[in-house]
Amino acid sequence: MSIKKENAPEPLARIPGSIHFIMSKVLYFGLSCKAYLRTFENQSPDVQICCDDCGRLLHKHGRYWRGVVTKHEVILIPIYRWYCPACNKTISLLPEFLIPWARYATWVREAALKRKRKGFSWRQIAESTTTSSVRYSFRTLKRWWARHLHRAANAALWVAGQFIAGGVDEDMLRLYPTMMNPTPMDTLDWLNKLLSRFIPAGASRRGYWTFLNAGLPAASRL
Ligand SMILES: [Zn+2]
Repeated sequence: MSIKKENAPEPLARIPGSIHFIMSKVLYFGLSCKAYLRTFENQSPDVQICCDDCGRLLHKHGRYWRGVVTKHEVILIPIYRWYCPACNKTISLLPEFLIPWARYATWVREAALKRKRKGFSWRQIAESTTTSSVRYSFRTLKRWWARHLHRAANAALWVAGQFIAGGVDEDMLRLYPTMMNPTPMDTLDWLNKLLSRFIPAGASRRGYWTFLNAGLPAASRL
């Protein structure tokens, strides 16, 4: 075991008696980053959130500030938190253009990966989706792409499941590009076909993912 590992602090959740869960919810506000900031700079969103585990109404629990990188700049926005005392669980309420692991706004990542699928070079992609002061690296784009290919199948299955739950009695695999030796790229194209039917007209102004992430389970968010 390396020294670094030995000295690393014990993750909070592993200390007996002090299990504290920190989770996130993505909520669709339909606002740009700047409009979100203007609206919630001094007041929290007026929403009531129930605990997923015990059903109790959650308490408001402060906020923190978080940077989000848009096409032109980094904007600091407040992220409001809620707390369930029964489950000792804190939930951060993220606007739909954010997910916990990404600094860039979701619509920037989506626009970039859409171009990547079309075969554009990193330079073409980066220059058409960001200005020079907030440009992402080739490595970052590669990481987004790998993660996206990895997650596309789960997201597609979830969307297909939503159609079925909504009473659509149609074979969703019919939309799959090929039945033989499918590649991750085929799955990606399947996801995009499903999304173009799933996302309500008008909601896709800034891409599909913001809308989708508000419904997807945390592990499948794009
Ligand atoms: Zn609870």
